[in-house]
Amino acid sequence: MAMEAEARPILDTLGAVETDGSPPLPARFFTARVEDCDVVVAVNGKDARHGVDSIGTEAAALTTLEVVRRFVPDVLISAGTAGGWQSRGARIGDVYVSRDRFVHHDRRIAIPGFDAYGVGSYPAMDVSALAVALGLKQGIVTTSNSLDENDDDRRMIATNGGDVKEMEAAAVAYVADMVGVPMMAVKAITDLVDHHTATAEQFEANLAMASGRLAHELVRVLEFLGASGGRKRP
Ligand code: SAH
Repeated sequence: MAMEAEARPILDTLGAVETDGSPPLPARFFTARVEDCDVVVAVNGKDARHGVDSIGTEAAALTTLEVVRRFVPDVLISAGTAGGWQSRGARIGDVYVSRDRFVHHDRRIAIPGFDAYGVGSYPAMDVSALAVALGLKQGIVTTSNSLDENDDDRRMIATNGGDVKEMEAAAVAYVADMVGVPMMAVKAITDLVDHHTATAEQFEANLAMASGRLAHELVRVLEFLGASGGRKRP
């Protein structure tokens, strides 16, 4: 997870307990149990230079590799908030799970081979049964390092697909693909990209509500995953 405000409700709901950090990374790690599963909540932490949450792809990739090495997870989940499109049926507070692949929409490299590398298209774990069982929307998650969307982003999202717009999932998926760990995303909609109100304004108005919705659905997702064969303790 990228932001402390996104993580707070799920940490409270799970009664998660903080464990050691991994200096020099700013990430914080919390552990909890759901059903028979060990759950690690990794939050990217504060940027030491700028004093804000370490959102975006660099911190997400570093935290993910550290989680894989330290905790050896069976499944990785990129959880947080995101933008959606009302033209694609999204509403504020909806919780989506990922579908098919994770793509980038701000890595434009017009050289054969590197163009596809830029988009990424890292595989998403098949969670269609989970989505149906829990009544969650499903969509392709598309990542960039900007909160807003410019004309180039818009074109790339139209070409490569994208229902859920955020700033970390493709970086988590890049590492997950590298290490061969199945990965999904759970994202609560804070803002509508195709609404006349500025994204930042919508985001700030809806962050607390959406993070609460995220926590509620994340628990259901963890319970579903646990019931369908999570790692059991002896
Ligand atoms: N200005 C905000 C900073 C949050 S940036 C603040 O001061 O609190 C947005 C964060 O929420 C990122 O981690 C990103 O993954 C997610 N996000 C929510 N809506 C988004 C959108 N429409 N586009 C990109 N990222 C979005």
